[in-house]
Amino acid sequence: MWIFSGQSSKKADGAKKMFLWLKIKKQSLRCFHTIGHAIYIQIKKKIYKLIMKVQLTKQFDFEMAHALMNYDGHCKNIHGHSYKLYITIEGEPNSDETSSKCGMVMDFGDLKKIVYENIIDKYDHALVLNEKAVFENSLNTKLIRTSFQPTCENMLIYFYQILNDKLPHGVRLCKLRMYETATSYAELVL
Ligand SMILES: [Zn+2]
Repeated sequence: MWIFSGQSSKKADGAKKMFLWLKIKKQSLRCFHTIGHAIYIQIKKKIYKLIMKVQLTKQFDFEMAHALMNYDGHCKNIHGHSYKLYITIEGEPNSDETSSKCGMVMDFGDLKKIVYENIIDKYDHALVLNEKAVFENSLNTKLIRTSFQPTCENMLIYFYQILNDKLPHGVRLCKLRMYETATSYAELVL
């Protein structure tokens, strides 16, 4: 048993008050921590929702012939490639549960339709030549003239320009990759 004298008793009261104050302080801090953590989780969820973008890629195959004007190698001759074109788009999945496209950034079928209508149908089995190249089309072949050298790189930039404004609202064209051969490709990252 502790017996306090008058002065010691005052000290003991002070110590009790201090202990009580520290206990309350600790509980308050724990409470603030819990509230703060809850707010942090809500903010984190909102940020995740804001940046929850998904990329989709679809592959397209087509055959195309070309010749490179003034080129110093074999590709100055008319020749063909089996091109593989990869189109990558980015957007947020549709969260409207009443929509037939719920959960989708974009319907792959819609992307296919846009790319076929604007690129594949036009360039598949076509001969593509620089408009400055002299060429007599005696075969009446499917000939497309370009204002640029029809290299893999330039064709890719041109395809981007064609497709960029054809996509629906909220969907961004973010990458195009085109293989000219099995081991050679050009890539445009936006
Ligand atoms: Zn070539």
